[in-house]
Amino acid sequence: QAKMLGGDRIEAYRPTLKTVTGDRVVLENDLKSAISNGELRILYQPIIRLSDRAIAGFEALVRWQHPKQGWLGPHEFIPLAEESGLINELGIYVLERAARQLAYWQQQHHDNYRLFTSVNVSSRQLLRHDLINDVKAVMSRSALTPGTLKLEITESLVMENPEYSAKVLERLRSFGAGLSLDDFGTGYSSLSYLQRFPFDTIKVDQSFVRNDQKNHNGARPVILRSIVTLAHDLGMDVVAEGAETESDALELLQMGCEYAQGFLYGQPMPAEDATRMLSNQLSRMQG
Ligand code: C2E
Ligand code: MG
Ligand code: MG
Ligand code: MG
Repeated sequence: QAKMLGGDRIEAYRPTLKTVTGDRVVLENDLKSAISNGELRILYQPIIRLSDRAIAGFEALVRWQHPKQGWLGPHEFIPLAEESGLINELGIYVLERAARQLAYWQQQHHDNYRLFTSVNVSSRQLLRHDLINDVKAVMSRSALTPGTLKLEITESLVMENPEYSAKVLERLRSFGAGLSLDDFGTGYSSLSYLQRFPFDTIKVDQSFVRNDQKNHNGARPVILRSIVTLAHDLGMDVVAEGAETESDALELLQMGCEYAQGFLYGQPMPAEDATRMLSNQLSRMQG
């Protein structure tokens, strides 16, 4: 069980795949059957509302139980899925499963009908596939509270065709999908996104969140505070990624950040464990 937990841990005790020649091709072939064989698992990591420490939602994170290699993290197969085009099928699978799970939670916990789930969407899905109809279909099937199925978008290809991307994102938003800008502050996730695309939430990258990050000139907390202010001035919510300690959480709370996610509150976990966490929270509030 421990093997499927936090992404960073998986790599820690398993020799990296790149050392084995030919593995890439084999793995790509295996991935084709992984979905139909039921080898993909979705884990859920809690996203906490800092003001009252309640679970506000979850992020769905995919894992692959490979028949020979054991548990693989997304960094080991998402790039392959993107190159081979399998990301479309994989993406729909994750979206459907996560939406069904969220519908179940919303029905079980009427007190928490605004509970949300974020699903990572590869920018390739956004550009090359009929994402709009998929999301629409999933949403109407699962009868979710509007705005509670959120799509997390990162990096790269979105800017290759900004007009088209903006149109797709606006359509998605118009029928009630939430849109989060993932890993904000790093890589391609830049300020121009905020101007061009209709995101409602910024997810601040881990490198700005943890107190123990390299921080030679005291810039980290200044940047973090500025991102929170920027988001609020634009009417957006902020989720801080990778909070690991109480001091990280305290700093975020003092800066007015709404939500945090990280090992402090819970690793990515199987749906049953997430359900238990929700139930425990309910009995705590009633007790
Ligand atoms: P992400 O969307 O930025 O997800 C957050 C990553 O940070 C997760 O890694 C999570 O386990 C890890 N994390 C969370 N809290 C902490 C913490 O306190 N400390 C540290 N050190 N790490 C933390 P994971 O699950 O390995 O996922 C890696 C990336 O793979 C994700 O980054 C996302 O971009 C991608 N991914 C995951 N699932 C999917 C999927 O279904 N579809 C697509 N297209 N991409 C996915
Ligand atoms: Mg994400
Ligand atoms: Mg992220
Ligand atoms: Mg990331």
